[in-house]
Amino acid sequence: MTLHAELAAELAARDGEGLRRRRRLLGSPQRAHVRVDGRDFLAFCSNDYLGLASDPRIVAAAKEGADRYGVGAGASHLILGHAAAHHELEAALAAFVGLPQTLLFSTGYMANMGVVSALVGRGDAVFADRLNHASLNDAALLSRATFRRYPHNDLEALERQLRNTPVRRRLVIVDAVFSMDGDIAPVVELLEVCARHDAYLLIDDAHGFGVLGAQGRGTHIHFGIRSDRLIYMATQGKAAGVSAAYVAGSEALIESLVQHARTYIYTTATPPLLAHALLTSLQIIEQEEWRRARLRELALRLKQGLQDVAWRLLPSGTPIQPLLVGGNVEALALSANLAEAGLLVPAIRPPTVPQGTARLRISLSADHSIGDVDRLVSTLRQAA
Ligand SMILES: *Cc1c(COP(=O)(O)O)cnc(C)c1O
Repeated sequence: MTLHAELAAELAARDGEGLRRRRRLLGSPQRAHVRVDGRDFLAFCSNDYLGLASDPRIVAAAKEGADRYGVGAGASHLILGHAAAHHELEAALAAFVGLPQTLLFSTGYMANMGVVSALVGRGDAVFADRLNHASLNDAALLSRATFRRYPHNDLEALERQLRNTPVRRRLVIVDAVFSMDGDIAPVVELLEVCARHDAYLLIDDAHGFGVLGAQGRGTHIHFGIRSDRLIYMATQGKAAGVSAAYVAGSEALIESLVQHARTYIYTTATPPLLAHALLTSLQIIEQEEWRRARLRELALRLKQGLQDVAWRLLPSGTPIQPLLVGGNVEALALSANLAEAGLLVPAIRPPTVPQGTARLRISLSADHSIGDVDRLVSTLRQAA
């Protein structure tokens, strides 16, 4: 068999298991009401929780940034790609999340790769929640540290692993908000465990930044945490509505990342126009509390509407509201059923989630209205 024939056979097998992933073509800006493959839909698919991805003020800031800085950074940060806008954004983000310094990366995936492999290596160990995002797992593998995963939120198992792994440096890595379940990690207790075993805690706040904590300042603020053991990471392509990510922590941490984080050093800086746009996004996140209030209102409405249907909403205090369906084919069929009615809700299947827990990942946005949620509820009830 040629490589191409082998690949085609593997793809056909995926089809059979309902695991083939396909891309739809988005023909409008990202928002609640979108045009997809030439048709209008109401979508519950994005991570644009605050409805900022096509906010006209941020679009205007991006244009202004293009006028001021051009389109491309043209070089890595350490050569000559570190623009005033990047620098300003790093300072603004540090003040916003209440940590000494931040470092901007192009994406969350790269930030995780960069920070984990800069901090640990052979002779160290990484401990990870089983439901962590793929980028944290890949980061741990890339680091070459001993990599141990513990069952979701099982702090006793984590503690046992920490006790039984004699190494130089210990790093615990978790999603602050689990991306496919929507639940919030027990960060306070995790820090206590870390303190007992001289470990450090990296929280990935991709889904908490902008959403949780006073004015959306993040999951650590939600819990009121201050700790030298905490290393914070958040992305800017979700609630912030743009792109990029950053790591926040002590001056020594950030300066070390500048020296050692390979995904920071060996890549072209993100376009400064995006950093410029993110400054406007950050102001909106800070000032427009109604967006977070709307999200809470929408989640409540959804929960009330789906109280007695065949499928169960997972317990979640965030805009990620997964509806547990079970089988892959069943989840796909439900998603297809909704699509026929003009509603887009993605079916999430293994390996993204454990076998037998395929689900519809309903994600809410401040751009949704109560009427939008009511439409989703009534369509789901009909499908049931
Ligand atoms: C989306 C996501 C990332 C990756 O961030 P990007 O900026 O999209 O690369 C990392 N961690 C978690 C938990 C995420 O949900």
